[in-house]
Amino acid sequence: MRYFLLFISFIWVGHVSSQTIQISLFNSKNINAYTLSIRQGRYILEGDGEKLAEYKKNSIFFINRRGNKLELRDRNSQIGIFKEVKFVNQDENCISLLRGVNPTTKTREYNDAIAFRVNDSKLRAINHIDLEKYIAAVIEAEGGASATLEYYKAQAVLVRTYTIKSIYKHAEEGFNLCDEVHCQAYHGRSSLNPDIYKATRATAGEVLIDSDSILCMTPFHSNCGGQTSAAGIYWQSDLSYLKSVFDPFCTDHKNASWHKEVSLLDWEGFLQLKGIQDTESFMNYRLSKRQKYFSEQYNITLRNIREHFRLRSTFFSIEPTENGILFKGKGYGHGIGMCQIGAMEMANVGYTYLDIIHFYFQHVTLTDYREMELERY
Ligand SMILES: [Zn+2]
Ligand SMILES: [Zn+2]
Repeated sequence: MRYFLLFISFIWVGHVSSQTIQISLFNSKNINAYTLSIRQGRYILEGDGEKLAEYKKNSIFFINRRGNKLELRDRNSQIGIFKEVKFVNQDENCISLLRGVNPTTKTREYNDAIAFRVNDSKLRAINHIDLEKYIAAVIEAEGGASATLEYYKAQAVLVRTYTIKSIYKHAEEGFNLCDEVHCQAYHGRSSLNPDIYKATRATAGEVLIDSDSILCMTPFHSNCGGQTSAAGIYWQSDLSYLKSVFDPFCTDHKNASWHKEVSLLDWEGFLQLKGIQDTESFMNYRLSKRQKYFSEQYNITLRNIREHFRLRSTFFSIEPTENGILFKGKGYGHGIGMCQIGAMEMANVGYTYLDIIHFYFQHVTLTDYREMELERY
């Protein structure tokens, strides 16, 4: 019940000014101990909801799971045993460093507050972070730091739409989203390119809705190889706003094409597994535009082949070689929605983020999620 109220407050706060979202850090790693150090600003430490003390730069803490509770220590001594502790940032520029020590993880920098609690014998670190700062960090993790402003604005709208649409994804576990690709990659704060924050600020609140005013699915991928994939080609069913488009903007990039050779034994083994005995007639295959099936008769999708042979895309032809077959492919990723390399190039040659969004998504509208009715989420 408590968490239910928490999530509702996200929506309410959404109508005012800034919103906080809760992200589970190092989510699938099962970490039993963390160190946290304050890099910048002042934090108030709360233990089981009570204010304990204020700390500033260079303070270091050790958080260890002890059964269904956690032990908090500083450099010198034990501070206490708690169900939950929270480091509450006292301004919006606070930064802390977090590292899992059992097992060991990379050290990552986080903005805003971090809470620790034990649920179902699992120690969780939850970042309570301003929504727009989180979006900036995801953009950096998913799209890199070397693109230009209009690209980042387009990516911000997609990431924000996904975030709001998925806001209850982990509600049963007591947070909003995890920090892994299950939700969206989040590797700590955005720090490498100030244009990313500029882009989130310039598009604050903006999300994509379809012709029924429902929040869109907003997939993206690295490189479409010259043609994006309609949703139904890769997923189970089509979506009106995710059609296939020909993309002239990404085809000069190094990820636009790839090759992979597979042995005859592996290729024939795969075909036989799918019920094909006459493998001879499957040594040559030409694909000039994207489609769903490699063989509709044998119910083999191109996605089946991509996943089995770990190929970069489903957009490939096949030709025989001396020892097997050669996949000659285009693109990198599932191909649905926005092509990141194409979008970066569009931004480089002067298109706006709206041009980019409407190029890859059809019949969509931008709106401010803070003005949407709850059921539209
Ligand atoms: Zn997740
Ligand atoms: Zn493309």
